[in-house]
Amino acid sequence: MLIKCLICHQEISPVVTWSSLWSKPEENDLCKKCSEKLNFIEGEACEKCSRPFSGLDPRYRTGNLCHDCTRWNEDPEWGSSLERNQSLFLYDDFLKEAIARYKFRGDYILARAFSPFIKSKLQTLDFDLLVPIPLSSERLYERGFNQSAALIREAGFTAAEMLKRTHAEKQSKKARNERIHLQQVFQRIADHDAENKKIILIDDIYTTGSTLYHAAKILKEAGAASVCSLTIAR
Ligand SMILES: [Zn+2]
Ligand SMILES: [Zn+2]
Repeated sequence: MLIKCLICHQEISPVVTWSSLWSKPEENDLCKKCSEKLNFIEGEACEKCSRPFSGLDPRYRTGNLCHDCTRWNEDPEWGSSLERNQSLFLYDDFLKEAIARYKFRGDYILARAFSPFIKSKLQTLDFDLLVPIPLSSERLYERGFNQSAALIREAGFTAAEMLKRTHAEKQSKKARNERIHLQQVFQRIADHDAENKKIILIDDIYTTGSTLYHAAKILKEAGAASVCSLTIAR
């Protein structure tokens, strides 16, 4: 059977074998070219959000934390809600294009492209529940699927849909500072018990962290033992 690369749709000839580094699966349905374009986050990075320190102005770094995380941590209401974020790849132009296709053009197949990476990362982590970041119902209707839930499913796990949106997710161009203190954008769905659970939130991109902090806060308030997050890109 002919296998086509899930990102560029070129025919795949040899199976790509990754080096033995933690998050690199033996096989995936990406061509060599696309695989090589994926920029794994490696080397020194912020220990809370995994933002790479290489290329970051030292002024934006305090010890092992980036400036943003230092600010999150200083906030008594929010700082401790999200324990840690881990991301697989740098959000560069190549990934931007791939994720845009996936997200906005409803290209579900790309969940499959990233799932081997998510899967092998999850195998190294300790958790009870995987919670996808939800879309608003309007967005879900437009797109036809929730990309975060799709990532979980395609990686062979069950998504615990514990949250729903209370507001549209479009973020304005407000200063990050204002955004942090916006009112809660999620609501908990009562079906799953969060009590004492180790939860990993799944989303496609970590930008300001705001979405993930909001989700984490709700789950912590519902009794979760810990809330971390895993995203494709950072
Ligand atoms: Zn390709
Ligand atoms: Zn950070």
